[in-house]
Amino acid sequence: MGNNNRDHDSMERKSAGLCDAYGRTIDYLRISLTDRCNLRCRYCMPMEGIPALKHDEILTLEEVERIAKVLTGMGIRRIRLTGGEPLVRRNMLSLVQRLGALEAKPELAITTNGILLEEYLEDFLAAGLKNINISLDTKQPETFRELTGMDGLDRVLRSIEKAVALGMRVKLNSVLIRGVNESEMAELAGMAKELPVDVRFIELMPIGPASGLRGVPREEILTRLKLEYGECEGVGGQRKSSSLPDAGGPAQYVLFQGFQGRVGFISPLSHAFCESCNRVRLTADGRLKLCLFYPDGPSLLPLVRGGCDDETLRKVILEGLQRKPKCHGFGNLDAPKEAKEARNMNQIGG
Ligand code: SAM
Ligand code: SF4
Repeated sequence: MGNNNRDHDSMERKSAGLCDAYGRTIDYLRISLTDRCNLRCRYCMPMEGIPALKHDEILTLEEVERIAKVLTGMGIRRIRLTGGEPLVRRNMLSLVQRLGALEAKPELAITTNGILLEEYLEDFLAAGLKNINISLDTKQPETFRELTGMDGLDRVLRSIEKAVALGMRVKLNSVLIRGVNESEMAELAGMAKELPVDVRFIELMPIGPASGLRGVPREEILTRLKLEYGECEGVGGQRKSSSLPDAGGPAQYVLFQGFQGRVGFISPLSHAFCESCNRVRLTADGRLKLCLFYPDGPSLLPLVRGGCDDETLRKVILEGLQRKPKCHGFGNLDAPKEAKEARNMNQIGG
């Protein structure tokens, strides 16, 4: 009898969760900790920067923790910290530790440019954060400076090596730009041969300064990689459920012979994955952003700052989720300008 009750309870827990109006399970939250960054990647942020949010315009770490606690109580299973550059947010380690201690035990991850990462790694591991995505668009110091406005490639490469040595789950994210770093696609993919890391090519999205640049189609990348490394086998991706360790991601992966890690493609425009989208974003200024393309979503900052209780917060979140769009509108040239997100990637948490 006692066992039956336990089974029933656990089934209820498993089936409980967040669902949007299209029946998609929402269990992945990306939290942007700041709009600030220590780099100026050409496709993301203008070299002169953009007016940063004022301190009182962004959620405090305590407010982020509270919203994360409510959301994990509602069914969010995995949390990724991003930005801007999440590691330039003061005391961010204390947030990681508090998220790691949440009762719901969400899987923790971070996306970083790797510049400041090296000194954080042991503390992240101790706090339960093992999944690290590091952006790496070039292995050439000169190109790194040209692309990011800073000399920092050595530091990024050291962070990658140390994260791997510590046994963390490392993915490298590369955005290829025509005429800038496209010639490095094989070398970048080769990182998955040298090291047990996945390398993912992210399609350039026409947001902010990227609108004036051209990306490289995945078919072209794959053809070039096959010339260099031979045939490959498809090894999945785009799973609909995120109850699996590597699920929930939009990447489609291939494996080349002799490689330790996979090569992946995240192509939101040419191979949209909206049908299996399982994510919402919390921007640094406290908006629950429902889709990368659209600005819509409830603003939670005035609520948490105004002393609302958890029940009200849950209600606003649930109502907001029902407005999550079926699909982004990147390919829709007729979409009215005011319907599109006007902010840059560093402001919305890429
Ligand atoms: N600063 C961190 C970093 O660079 O990893 C986290 C934030 S950054 C906005 C997250 C990811 O978005 C990075 O991998 C970056 O390359 C990617 N990104 C930024 N602008 C993009 C664009 N226009 N198209 C595609 N990816 C973009
Ligand atoms: Fe900063 Fe990341 Fe944007 Fe580069 S991609 S400018 S590192 S936020």
